[in-house]
Amino acid sequence: MKTILVLHTGGTISMSEDQTTGKVSPSSENPLNKRGHLFDDVANMIVEDFLHLPSPHITPKEMLLLKNRIEKAIVANEADGVVITHGTDTLEETAYFLDLTLKTTIPIVVTGAMRSINEIGSDGLYNFQSAIWVALSDDAKEKGVLVVMNDEIHTARYVTKTHTSNVATFRTPTFGPIGLISKNEVLFFQKLIEEEIYAINNVAKTVYLLKIYAGMDGTLFDAINQPTTDGLVIEALGAGNLPPATLPALKRMLANDIPVVLVSRSFNGIAQDVYDYVGGGKRLKEDGVIFTNGLSGPKARIKLQVVLSQSTLNRSLEDYF
Ligand code: ASP
Repeated sequence: MKTILVLHTGGTISMSEDQTTGKVSPSSENPLNKRGHLFDDVANMIVEDFLHLPSPHITPKEMLLLKNRIEKAIVANEADGVVITHGTDTLEETAYFLDLTLKTTIPIVVTGAMRSINEIGSDGLYNFQSAIWVALSDDAKEKGVLVVMNDEIHTARYVTKTHTSNVATFRTPTFGPIGLISKNEVLFFQKLIEEEIYAINNVAKTVYLLKIYAGMDGTLFDAINQPTTDGLVIEALGAGNLPPATLPALKRMLANDIPVVLVSRSFNGIAQDVYDYVGGGKRLKEDGVIFTNGLSGPKARIKLQVVLSQSTLNRSLEDYF
């Protein structure tokens, strides 16, 4: 029988609803642990209440702790697969952080829930079960970190939370899920074409994320332009363009050698340096702005932080993106 390491970190999947007030909050005991015996026939389960946090409380420090714990399990050959339960608000960032920093072939699966364990139609136990099945599947090996929710398997790199309450919230814009769980069967249809892994021991870099809007000026860029800032990600307009009034402040940042990575604020598609007008992508790229391919703003921010946290960069920052 295969062994699965389960690391609970908190979130709605580990919470209960007060039936009188409707408030959803953590309790002293993780309710999922009461149902752990359901999986005794399919796997040896090593279960740890690793963290007990709502996911808006998760920072890159906790992501690093989680990465170190999983790395220890990989080195010691402790498990054939890992399942992490996590709050859905920042699940995609933790999943991508692990994807960028863990070198392994075993399945690493992150899951969560939109409804707490005692709500009618709760998806917690179901998603947990699906995550265990995916972690047990030989086909899930060498696929990077996966996010399993609502019968779908997504890559950590491109998945995002798209709805505040619907159980079908996790989607992969532009590219789609890479697999499905259908009537207890785990089926894959796609795989990412290249893997990216970076060795890091700390995440002390300060990287900001700014969303661009019509009529924006340079005030927020100037506020971020500090000696303590290590990088900035901007969610630019359309294919990758900026309002002209942001440009002087943007150029001051670049002149201070603060790297600026650009993604699109559009939900679908990729950023590209297409337009040659003031603030257009072509000119931004010539000025030194780094364009990425397909990452969302929060994911590009995680990536910039991870890349900068390496002890040395062996190529230009642009090459990493
Ligand atoms: N606010 C919760 C969290 O992320 C939402 C959830 O888990 O679904 O912790």
